[in-house]
Amino acid sequence: MSTTKGQRAGLLERLERGHVICAEGYLFEFERRGYLQAGAFVPEVVLEHPDLVAQLHREFVHAGSDVVEAFTYYAHREKMRLIGKEHLLEEINRQALALAKEVAAESGALFAGDICNTNVFDPENEESKRTARAMFEEQVGWAAEAGVDYVIAETFSHAEEARLALEEIKAAGLPAVVTMALHREPITRDGLTPEDACALFEQHGADVVGLNCIRGPRTMLPFLSAIRERVSCAVAALPVPYRTTEDEPTFQSLHDHECDVIPGGMAFPTALDRFQCNRYELAEFAREADALGVNYLGICCGNSPHLVRSMAEALGRTPPASRYSADMSKHAYFGDDASLKDFNREFAEKL
Ligand SMILES: [Zn+2]
Repeated sequence: MSTTKGQRAGLLERLERGHVICAEGYLFEFERRGYLQAGAFVPEVVLEHPDLVAQLHREFVHAGSDVVEAFTYYAHREKMRLIGKEHLLEEINRQALALAKEVAAESGALFAGDICNTNVFDPENEESKRTARAMFEEQVGWAAEAGVDYVIAETFSHAEEARLALEEIKAAGLPAVVTMALHREPITRDGLTPEDACALFEQHGADVVGLNCIRGPRTMLPFLSAIRERVSCAVAALPVPYRTTEDEPTFQSLHDHECDVIPGGMAFPTALDRFQCNRYELAEFAREADALGVNYLGICCGNSPHLVRSMAEALGRTPPASRYSADMSKHAYFGDDASLKDFNREFAEKL
């Protein structure tokens, strides 16, 4: 319950007016900062350092995110079981939701719940489907109780699993953003093209459909126009900020051929640094996706605030962080400010 909520535009209203930018990628960022373990990838930082989670929410909003996404990605029953902490399941969800709600309330951003791939869903096993659905139901229930504006269902490999998640969100009476993860084969694990999967979600009531994670800007972009043409609802694109290629289209498939000290030789997930996109590449992606009619944009694993700011600026925004966007005119060597010393500027080409 909040009076602010009544005055703020909701997700659908904002999408009708223009873009919605959603910063994702909390797991990778906290792993990089030393508060979360690669491998299991469980957001324990929510319970151990809630102040840091709230701070990263604030940094993303400062940089231009319109959404504070509760950090409940992989805070589900299967992941909590895996690390022997299933008893903390409800606590971690409620805490993550409370942190996101607080930052959304203070900033006027949208407050989103988040559910994702369960890793137990098996298309051949009906019992696993019931388990997955129950996992969605409990997490969506906590999100609804926290008063989220909408729920994101993300990073699904099976369209059928995403549909179960969607059904639970709609059963709770909430708007739903449903995004699929596209692996090396550009179809879902149950064999649908991305546009067929997205059309299916729209038929089942999804408000926004699209792709997130796994693929970088270059290898996600080619699939967006087919989705855009196929559905009437808003389309989402939230790539990972890595330089994936036609030969290595996903961040799991990237190999760093110039480095022979990576354990196991696989850059994912701890040695992707060399493939990191710069801010200009994310700006370019935002412009290209926008031109295709994609208006729910963001960045997934590998995201940082400076990339969100760049995306926001590419879409014509000036978030608070734009106050500090690059201006080289006062740089000692490369600048052109009249008060700069010539003996430094003349040395610029020797730097
Ligand atoms: Zn991701």
